[in-house]
Amino acid sequence: MAAACRISARWAWADALYEGVVQDLIDELGRLPGIGPKSAQRIAFHLLSADPADIGRLQEVLGKVKEGVQFCEICGNVSEQETCRICRDTRRDLTVICVVEEPKDVLAVERTREFRGRYHVLGGALDPLSGIGPEQLRMRELLQRIGAADVTEVIIATDPNTEGEATATYLVRMLRDFPGLSVTRLASGLPMGGDLEFADELTLGRALSGRRVL
Ligand SMILES: [Zn+2]
Repeated sequence: MAAACRISARWAWADALYEGVVQDLIDELGRLPGIGPKSAQRIAFHLLSADPADIGRLQEVLGKVKEGVQFCEICGNVSEQETCRICRDTRRDLTVICVVEEPKDVLAVERTREFRGRYHVLGGALDPLSGIGPEQLRMRELLQRIGAADVTEVIIATDPNTEGEATATYLVRMLRDFPGLSVTRLASGLPMGGDLEFADELTLGRALSGRRVL
């Protein structure tokens, strides 16, 4: 009954309510980012009519996703080993670190092919209203990395929105005291209020090459 109440509250405005496991499936799908009620229904009914072998593969991957994926000890990116593919690559430039919010942003910057340094994934952005302060992000790890290696430039590539800007401002203040360290921010041109991952390669590539010193 409790589940039904939760669902009806959440889907009160949806066109139709389904019974039992179908509604549970729609409800779970609807909790995923970027999936609205209409898409959740469409995916649920696609799954209901899908080949059992396809469902089996999906089930298998979902089962493995939590146990098979870990985070890189160095940069915090998703990794299948203790360190990620990028941190293990000896051809990457160790003197430049690009700071991003999420692992998906690493992919976005990689797609531009403009960056040959390494990354640092914060695990989010400062958002005091949601209880996310510097302690909840991998800020201390970043300081340790910069202190321990010959890092000459930190590129701040947080999202061009309020939280991303607040995080960038905080980082600039935090990194100001490192001698010989240049702190840069992606050039403007990225749509404000957006998400780094949704910027096209060309725009993000230009923002990267046109970055400005803070
Ligand atoms: Zn890494």
